[in-house]
Amino acid sequence: MSNKEVFQIAIDGPSGAGKSTVAKAVARRLGIEYIDTGAMYRALGLKLLERGVAMDDEEAVRKVLAETEIDFRAGSIFLDGQAVEHLIRTPEVSMAASACSALPFVREKLVALQQQLGARKSVVMDGRDICAVVFPGARFKYFITASDEERAKRRYRELLEKGEQTTFDEVLAAIRARDHNDMTRAASPLVKAADAEEIDTTGMSIDQVTDYICDQVCSR
Ligand code: C5P
Repeated sequence: MSNKEVFQIAIDGPSGAGKSTVAKAVARRLGIEYIDTGAMYRALGLKLLERGVAMDDEEAVRKVLAETEIDFRAGSIFLDGQAVEHLIRTPEVSMAASACSALPFVREKLVALQQQLGARKSVVMDGRDICAVVFPGARFKYFITASDEERAKRRYRELLEKGEQTTFDEVLAAIRARDHNDMTRAASPLVKAADAEEIDTTGMSIDQVTDYICDQVCSR
């Protein structure tokens, strides 16, 4: 592949399958940019929370959206010129991101922004709608999955490492509930694009998945 050619690697899949870890590793290995689309919804969610805007107040959400600038610099998210990575991973912001991401006019603006970011330079992008909606014409499209037990095992391990009190069964139930919501929601439900390659990462390490994708990109 010529160095000058701009191409996109689009990665979708259910929560907990390791999409963002793989996407970051692939971007690092290939020396291209990683765009965390979830962080974009989180940044907007943060601003709406800070302004005290209710998600069902469409006029107010539209006004904030029109006055919002979201960008990435060296892989980090900026909201209206401020670095906000350290503020967007709280449970409150997760809820706000989830709520605002269900609004079609929010998706319209952020999807357009994602398309602009990926048209300028080669990127790896992950999210739930990247293959089907954002970059249906991406050169490389993957749907990364793992069994629900495997995803729950990984998440449970992470939570234990953070010192959180939970049980494996609770984590598994939460993963199954989130899958159900993601697959049945009206705006951009989680579906595998017909031409995306499914990679079942059950029993695979992050390095093995990264190698697999990078080998394919480098050989084309
Ligand atoms: O992936 P992450 O948990 O950071 O995403 C935050 C929120 O943004 C999630 O609720 C997810 O539903 C939403 N999202 C989305 N479309 C994307 C990426 C994330 O709706 N492409």
